[in-house]
Amino acid sequence: MSKKIIVNKFGGGILKKELIPIIAKRLKEQLNKGYSPLVVVSAMPGVTDSLVSFLKKLKEKPLKRDGVTSLTVNYIIELKKIHSVIIADMEFNKEWRNEIHIELEKLFFELEKDLNTTLSDTKLEDKIISYGEKLSATILSFYFNLKGIDAQRLLAEEIPIITDDNFKNANIDWQTSEKNINQKLSNFKKVPIIAGFTGITNNGVTTTLGRGGTDTTACFVGSAIKAYKIILWKDVGGVLSTDPKIVSKAKIIKAISYQEAEESGKIIHEKAISYVKIFKTPIEISSISNPKLTTQIKEIKNIKKGTKIISSKKNLTLFLITDENIKTNEQLLIVSSVFAKYKVEMILVSNTRHSLQIVADNNNGLLDKVFEEIEGKISKIKSIKVNMIFLVGKFDINDVNKFNDLLIKLETKLQISAFLYENCTRLEAVVETNKIDEVIKVLYKKFIK
Ligand code: ASP
Ligand code: MG
Repeated sequence: MSKKIIVNKFGGGILKKELIPIIAKRLKEQLNKGYSPLVVVSAMPGVTDSLVSFLKKLKEKPLKRDGVTSLTVNYIIELKKIHSVIIADMEFNKEWRNEIHIELEKLFFELEKDLNTTLSDTKLEDKIISYGEKLSATILSFYFNLKGIDAQRLLAEEIPIITDDNFKNANIDWQTSEKNINQKLSNFKKVPIIAGFTGITNNGVTTTLGRGGTDTTACFVGSAIKAYKIILWKDVGGVLSTDPKIVSKAKIIKAISYQEAEESGKIIHEKAISYVKIFKTPIEISSISNPKLTTQIKEIKNIKKGTKIISSKKNLTLFLITDENIKTNEQLLIVSSVFAKYKVEMILVSNTRHSLQIVADNNNGLLDKVFEEIEGKISKIKSIKVNMIFLVGKFDINDVNKFNDLLIKLETKLQISAFLYENCTRLEAVVETNKIDEVIKVLYKKFIK
């Protein structure tokens, strides 16, 4: 492909009846301007969640063989309905509809087979979860053709995007996969519609890249083929300076660096950004209905001092260990091994001479277990519900002091204050108050305006 390639990621959030025609329009605009679009898609809205919960249901109930079969049959009917409704809105004539249904039937047939064997072969779980993307890539390929775009579905397994066997959160083998995608696309004459979120091990077992992993596929593909840019299309475009529900005049940020995007946490999947950062592939986060609403993520040589984003992370837990005779190394070792055992991430660790503080998120629901087990080993431990407030931008010591002072003045019950480090791009503090929105309002006035 000699033309400039634009990688377009369409997530479940915009695969809606009223937006799908606009998606096709955006691709046509790119073709008309002489670019080569490439598409990476997620599952239709809610489909991955539905597959995940059905798997859970299958595993929870100890069922006889025919019990599994009938549950599965009913589930497939439900899944077919969801996709039929989407297709019904797409103005296909009878002939096309038949053709689509033949293609989808092949996938449903395979899915049914996989569901019936997954209880004896848990390695199939990732493949099952990946059907959402396989179905949507199939439907959208037909739809784009209907709209005059010469498109063709491309599954991750056909490229192949090779990963390790860390199921549910697999990591792409960059070197092999980079070669594979470039080779595959060199003979590909049509607009590729790649099923995101998926990979395959060297042994031919399908894997998934972690929830939200279509961003990862898009960023991998974009950097591997040295795309002109990657556009992550959204319902509402761009990255905002803060939550507009809290501060109504929150504004779209024109451009941020890879590091700032990484620090802000929410904008783009951590794994995804790791690829683009190396190859400096520019990313745009744009509104599908109004592409002018956009934020660029790119290399910025001289980041201007100041605050770009104010945000928070709510419902966190602070483990507080206090002991006159604390031996930080030893205690930290004990604590971190328990966290690792339950696969709970420590978001922030801080210590003083007589205390050790660890902030964690209970997103896998195992934090109580972590606490119990640590309590059995270290007696002076307490857990407190906390929230985190953070600023993203470029900061010096004055900003750090101003931030901490404000949090004290606002009586936030500051538990862990922000500190300065070299090329400081993130100030974060842990507070006990739950009046986070009010605090954000004040911070916005003082730091952004
Ligand atoms: N469909 C997958 C998920 O919901 C991947 C994605 O949406 O990016 O996690
Ligand atoms: Mg999704």
